[in-house]
Amino acid sequence: MSKAAAIPDDFTPDMIIVGAGLSGLLTAWRCLDVNPDVRVRIIEASDKIAGDHTWSFNLTDVAENLREWIAPFIAYQWDSYDVKFPQRERRLNIPYCTGNSETLRACVAPHIQSGRLQVILNTKVIQLSHDTVTLETGEVIGAKCVLDARGFTPNENVFLGYQKFVGHVIKTPKPHGVERPIIMDACVPQLGGYRFVYCLPYTDTDMLVEDTYYTDGADLHASELDGRIKDYIRDNLGLAEYELIRREKGVLPITLAAQKNAFPLNAIGIRGGFYHAVTGYSFPDALWTAYALAQEFYVNVAFEDLWNPNGNPEYLHKTKWQKETFLRLLNRMLFRAAKPAQRYKVLQRFYGLPQGLIERFYAGQLSRADKLRILIGKPPVPVTKALYNFSEKAFIKRESAAQNQIPKA
Ligand SMILES: Cc1cc2nc3c(=O)[nH]c(=O)nc-3n(C[C@H](O)[C@H](O)[C@H](O)COP(=O)(O)OP(=O)(O)OC[C@H]3O[C@@H](n4cnc5c(N)ncnc54)[C@H](O)[C@@H]3O)c2cc1C
Repeated sequence: MSKAAAIPDDFTPDMIIVGAGLSGLLTAWRCLDVNPDVRVRIIEASDKIAGDHTWSFNLTDVAENLREWIAPFIAYQWDSYDVKFPQRERRLNIPYCTGNSETLRACVAPHIQSGRLQVILNTKVIQLSHDTVTLETGEVIGAKCVLDARGFTPNENVFLGYQKFVGHVIKTPKPHGVERPIIMDACVPQLGGYRFVYCLPYTDTDMLVEDTYYTDGADLHASELDGRIKDYIRDNLGLAEYELIRREKGVLPITLAAQKNAFPLNAIGIRGGFYHAVTGYSFPDALWTAYALAQEFYVNVAFEDLWNPNGNPEYLHKTKWQKETFLRLLNRMLFRAAKPAQRYKVLQRFYGLPQGLIERFYAGQLSRADKLRILIGKPPVPVTKALYNFSEKAFIKRESAAQNQIPKA
């Protein structure tokens, strides 16, 4: 393992970002793009920035005024995608995009070259406040603004289900024949929760195939999923010959309920609760927070004022919590009201709704009419269980009491 880099003292940053993953780098990139005088230091525990990832999203998740900015991040784009359920197949004409670690590194590279973005690798931060960072070595460094972008950590004020998956990127000797993404193929045995397979054909011969589960626990038996992916590739995609070129796995948080003010104010990305409550995906939120921190506030206000009551981070967290009240309710219906083997019916019904509503759902922009439209009609879950899980406050009370009864190991 590489040795921790010394922190150079010839660079005075305005902002320190801890964690050079998706949210940390998008925020640095945006702040540096719109503020020519600013200098940012980013501290990363591993030996490279941006890791080894792909991040997908609907283009309609991104506000129109940000699409030009984000264009260099996009490595692949498709005009439409398919979903498949036992009683419904549908093509959605929603442009779908994927960026990856390489394109993200390329987006910030000019700022590293110009010397305004300083990257410190192999350096673990063990503590931080809104203006100081404590390194594993005990050294304390400061800046006018410190942001925590260290990725997921459990939070006792947030009650979760999980989206778990293993993905194989395969290369076929002949064209695989999958022309567009299949975002959900739920015509597979439903094992222990909502299960679907996700196929992302990067090229005619390269494709990501991911086996995904919405379940109550975070445990992931990756080798079992490896076997099921192989079966799916052979039996459902009809591909006998291929090479496995990359493997990924993930356990993403799905929020069933959250206390107000559950997250530290200076946390961004997954750590700050900035992910879609139903999918666990964080790219659209990472863009939104990067934009808001860089543009609306940072340009207009001194860094020190960011942390004042009603400052921008306070506003961002509050808005996020309020905006997702309805999504957390849907999650409680999916995880606690529907029987595991029947959960797919909730999604099957959802994907029968108008495309505009589906776009707004993923973009976190549901209107009151949309919410009513989702709720009306024959519920795909038992009414008594739905009512029992309706109130978030009562749910939190019950879950907290249950947690307190579990003896600590
Ligand atoms: C396999 C996988 C696929 C995913 N696919 C998608 C997708 O397609 N679309 C989507 O929107 N979302 C996706 N997600 C969810 C989410 O967008 C990603 O997890 C995203 O990378 C989260 O961004 P982040 O900045 O919060 O954290 P990360 O990108 O995980 O970055 C955190 C960084 O902090 C560093 N770090 C951690 N601790 C310390 C420390 N103590 N000191 C210094 N540095 C530290 C880490 O090394 C890492 O580089 C996926 C997640 C996974 C795991």
